[in-house]
Amino acid sequence: MNIKQRIENLSKELLRHQYLYYIKAEPEISDKEYDRLFDELVALEKKYPEYAFKNSPTKRVGSDLDNVFAEKKHEIPVLSLDKEYTLQGLTKWVKKIISNSERELSFVVEEKIDGASIVLYYKNGVLDSALTRGNGMFGNDVTENIRTIKQIPLITEEKSDFAVRGEIFINKSDFLKYNKSFENKYSNPRNLAAGSLRNLKSSVVAKIPLNFLAYEGFFKNQFCNNHILILLKLKHMGFCINKNIAFFSSNVKDISVVPNEFPEIIKGKIKDISAYIEGKIKGRNKLDYEIDGLVVKINEIDIRENLGHTSHHPRWEIAFKFDSPIAQTVLKNIVIQVGRNGRVTPVAILEPVKIAGSVVSRATLHNQEYIEILELGPGDLVSISKRGDIIPAVEEVIEKSYENPAVYKFQENCPFCGSRLIKQGAHHFCKNKKCPERMKRSLIHFVSKDQMDIDTLGEKTIKFLFERGFVKIIPDIYKFNYDLLLKEEGFKEKRVDNIKKSIDKSKSRPFKKVLAALGFDGLGTSVASELIKNGFNSIDKIIEIASKGEKEEFSKIEGFGTITAELLIEHFTDNKNLELIRELKKWELNFKEKIESETLKIKPFENQIWAITGSFKNFKPRSKAAEKIEQRGGKVNNTISSKTTHLLTGSLSGSKLERARNLNVKIVNEKEFLDMLNLSL
Ligand SMILES: [Zn+2]
Repeated sequence: MNIKQRIENLSKELLRHQYLYYIKAEPEISDKEYDRLFDELVALEKKYPEYAFKNSPTKRVGSDLDNVFAEKKHEIPVLSLDKEYTLQGLTKWVKKIISNSERELSFVVEEKIDGASIVLYYKNGVLDSALTRGNGMFGNDVTENIRTIKQIPLITEEKSDFAVRGEIFINKSDFLKYNKSFENKYSNPRNLAAGSLRNLKSSVVAKIPLNFLAYEGFFKNQFCNNHILILLKLKHMGFCINKNIAFFSSNVKDISVVPNEFPEIIKGKIKDISAYIEGKIKGRNKLDYEIDGLVVKINEIDIRENLGHTSHHPRWEIAFKFDSPIAQTVLKNIVIQVGRNGRVTPVAILEPVKIAGSVVSRATLHNQEYIEILELGPGDLVSISKRGDIIPAVEEVIEKSYENPAVYKFQENCPFCGSRLIKQGAHHFCKNKKCPERMKRSLIHFVSKDQMDIDTLGEKTIKFLFERGFVKIIPDIYKFNYDLLLKEEGFKEKRVDNIKKSIDKSKSRPFKKVLAALGFDGLGTSVASELIKNGFNSIDKIIEIASKGEKEEFSKIEGFGTITAELLIEHFTDNKNLELIRELKKWELNFKEKIESETLKIKPFENQIWAITGSFKNFKPRSKAAEKIEQRGGKVNNTISSKTTHLLTGSLSGSKLERARNLNVKIVNEKEFLDMLNLSL
């Protein structure tokens, strides 16, 4: 086989495996085998760049080259939606459409996900370009960034030209995790998703947990006259389709157009639309993504075409917008927080106001630029939102303060140590490592629940210990003679005893927690876990590689880039940090990963034969679940047969589940499985 052919075959094979893994959650090959094929393709592409495929699966990891977002004309109209805010208004719209139509109609109701809209253009079945909505006529070409989203097929079996509209978004749970590792830099999932599309480096985008759901398909050769069948076709082509869809028709026969392959679609009569929408309003917070409304569309394509559109919006669909949780209040003041790494965060102090059931009195303002964009200053009347119940945000100034209309400006010096604040990127920093606020913050971070979990040392106690000069730097936590506290007010013997106990207990915290507790910039729990998973299971190994400056050893880890690698080298060659680690080693903290004993003595799963399907929160890749079963004496088989005793099911479980039910196999979900593991330990 020639090289060109091999590159093409590898590309196609890898794309197929990406689809099986990320969309169907039914991988056919091991992660190791996948990596082997992937590495081979990377090597070939490097050697023969002229044969590299534009939509190569290697593009999923992005590039460090700066993107340019050229403006391009849309080939399909990308209009915004007309909106209704009340159920009466919506019902009126539906009735009007029906009475103007000569035929019976059906409607599809879809969730309006609060993300970033995107149009994907495919040429001869291959992803050619991805444009933002822009002004509806012209959008920005963000193809390189879009290619990194693994849910978007780069090649499809449909060998024709077509376009797909959909939404790029981030799950709430993923957002909280991701944002935490960036010290809550982002205000909400929608902003992060929309911002990431315009990120200059696709290698950065590749690490953002972006999702994609397709909601419209535009095919040159019209093969059917109904939206539901178009969605089904997209699904067969490898696109993800939202499962929460409802279909309404006044004609019962019509309901049969909803194929069996869409079992999750809710079906009803036109008169059921209001009740369905009421249910969705109540249930919206239960979803793991934010929706800001619903979209009601006509299902029949020819009727859509007859109705056409105004200059602003289509006449055949309408958005039903939910009430947004927004309230008005007065900005009393802006205060400055300094984090352990010196980053300055302005915080709005608000006249307390109730939004979506809770009282809000503070909101982050991110940085000086954010304040300038809002033209914000103390005394202003502002609107506050709590999007998706995550973090309250100042949305806009409704009325400037009459007495003091100036926009708030950062002070020039750190309010805690007086050193000059330095601007880097969008943020200001206090660069003084001896800044008392930074020192206090790193102590507070170290003892916090997610790190060393020393719960007897709360923020107040740490502040007290710091200000009295008892505990200034992290090793002091272990060095200090807590009996001295007995002389202080508020410290009885029992309390001091508890402090000593919880400090002792922290010495058994696992290596990954210790690593993250050090508080080095960019080294949170998830980076620590990845390091350990990839063989850096002791601090000595990390220091050794860092001291040699072997950047690639770190950057080749999945999810790491050159920035993370450079940061790691910087942290683990810094003399002060090395001194800190040396000091802490004396107190016997875990600087090595303890390896779980390979097999357990008791074998509670003996004689059991398990199969596994779907994807799991706690077992990624799912071979980890298999390991647990085998450690306990069970066997794992990939296929389901009459011998199978248990089926472990994750989310997105496929055909195996059906088969298991027919064979009376015991079905175990992730939570039940975790319980079984705990019981057997
Ligand atoms: Zn300072």
